[in-house]
Amino acid sequence: MGLYVTTLRFILGDQLNPEHSWFTTPSSDIVYTMMEVRQETDYVLHHAQKIIGIFAGMRDLARMLLEQGHRVHYIAIDDPQNQQSLTANLDLLLSLYKCDLFEYQEPDEWRLDEQLKLFCKTLQINSRMVSSEHFYATRDETATLFTGQKQWLMERFYRQMRTRHGVLMQNAKTPVGDKWNFDQENRKSWIGTPAEPADLRTAHNHSALWTVIQAAGVKSFGNPQATAFQWPLNRTEALAQLEVFIEQVLPNFGDFQDAMSVKSWRLFHALISFALNTKMLNPREIVTRVEQAWQSDCVSLATAEGFIRQILGWREYVRGIYWANMPGYAQHNVFNHQSPLPEWFWTGDTKMRCLSHAIGQSLEHAYAHHIQRLMVIGNFSLLAGLDPEALHRWYLGIYIDAFEWVELPNTVGMSQYADGGLLATKPYVSAAAYIDRMSDYCKGCHYNKKLREGEKACPFNALYWDFFARNKETLSKNFRLGMVYRTLEKMDVVAQESLQHQANSTRARIEHL
Ligand SMILES: Cc1cc2nc3c(=O)[nH]c(=O)nc-3n(C[C@H](O)[C@H](O)[C@H](O)COP(=O)(O)OP(=O)(O)OC[C@H]3O[C@@H](n4cnc5c(N)ncnc54)[C@H](O)[C@@H]3O)c2cc1C
Ligand code: SF4
Repeated sequence: MGLYVTTLRFILGDQLNPEHSWFTTPSSDIVYTMMEVRQETDYVLHHAQKIIGIFAGMRDLARMLLEQGHRVHYIAIDDPQNQQSLTANLDLLLSLYKCDLFEYQEPDEWRLDEQLKLFCKTLQINSRMVSSEHFYATRDETATLFTGQKQWLMERFYRQMRTRHGVLMQNAKTPVGDKWNFDQENRKSWIGTPAEPADLRTAHNHSALWTVIQAAGVKSFGNPQATAFQWPLNRTEALAQLEVFIEQVLPNFGDFQDAMSVKSWRLFHALISFALNTKMLNPREIVTRVEQAWQSDCVSLATAEGFIRQILGWREYVRGIYWANMPGYAQHNVFNHQSPLPEWFWTGDTKMRCLSHAIGQSLEHAYAHHIQRLMVIGNFSLLAGLDPEALHRWYLGIYIDAFEWVELPNTVGMSQYADGGLLATKPYVSAAAYIDRMSDYCKGCHYNKKLREGEKACPFNALYWDFFARNKETLSKNFRLGMVYRTLEKMDVVAQESLQHQANSTRARIEHL
């Protein structure tokens, strides 16, 4: 290997975009590097599929770049030279290739951003961070929009994004259909029809890779599905999956996006978050493709708008929240919740059918859809008083799409309200009635959805009222919770005490629920 190379370009495991402008022309003066390191497998306990998916995607991108004539130095997890730390490996490579320039793409995680910034300060050569060419908004755009405001409303951000990028607009100011938001039309439960979409994703056998990962001593949990691994390996596969979603699944997405069922783990969700967050896909191409589907009458405007809001609105918005609040966002804990996660978060072994299904499928597929994450697992965690930071680490580990910039605001902000309402206008909590309305979980559950008290009472019910009672000081002035507090006030003292007693006993036997 020659030593005349001058630039080392570093690609992180969630930067698997072969269309980045870096790769336009191969050059013998540039070495690309990717590395599988214990630093990244071990910062939380990860689901096996997440580790396999990222390593397999990195290996595939390295292969593709080599085929295109680029120079690539790939460090595998079992490479004897591997220092298992990003910066220790980079040090070795910079001196091996006698580089006089180091470049990396903008990391999405504060931890890595800091690490690389500090690393660059130690270098005797020039270094440069370049855009990852992925997001619509810059890191600090959201913070600028909301300067001086106590609450950062997603809807305001979303409208600005629609206007700025001309998405679903009649003209510079007016949205198509004369409405920004078609949310009310989007809430139905699912009773088996229309049929669940067929899973047409390509299956890969990653058992050799899985053996290497295990032999390297990487700890993980969940089903690796190593012999029939279905998350996309590269952009080509991700694009094919996106097309199938838009043509066959998206027409039903809007109607059933809040539905949950034991009969289907994905219902009509896109399963694109892994490909999107690893940058195999670009958000612009998804938004454009969905807009086209509406223009060609393949989906309704309500469906297209509802889906685009997730990508152009929520996804970009939570990233802005993340960068505006780091470091320190993970430590927010407005309710001072301290309870550890029950053991069954790692097994799904609970008599609560909703949680057993949502956690069970997360262990099986490294995936749960939004309402399962928010209104089953997150809802229970908040009502039960689980430590939001411990919960954040669990979410960060278990989901194939979990990267801190998107997971942390969703968990600590949206789901646990631990930031005191910066992101959510009220806590997303419910008693059994909501879960029953949106799912088939309650029928056949060990617990009775209608009861508030007694052995068989659904744990959500007493915990729900107790949550509002014990957090009266923080929440009662929230105008969106007026009805809840009026109902609480109407309850007599005996009823309130008995709910509190039931909630305490529920928390005391949390391991056995
Ligand atoms: C507690 C909690 C933790 C979450 N953790 C993550 C995470 O680690 N990574 C992640 O990508 N999403 C996370 N989400 C958001 C959402 O649940 C997932 O994006 C979605 O379930 C991914 O599945 P899908 O691709 O089938 O999405 P669909 O339901 O089909 O939605 C399409 C896309 O919209 C985007 N999207 C939708 N809602 C959100 C949101 N609230 N924030 C950001 N993007 C959104 C995603 O890119 C998603 O792929 C979390 C939500 C909650 C409540
Ligand atoms: S009865 Fe309660 S615990 Fe059982 S599935 Fe319904 S909400 Fe969940």
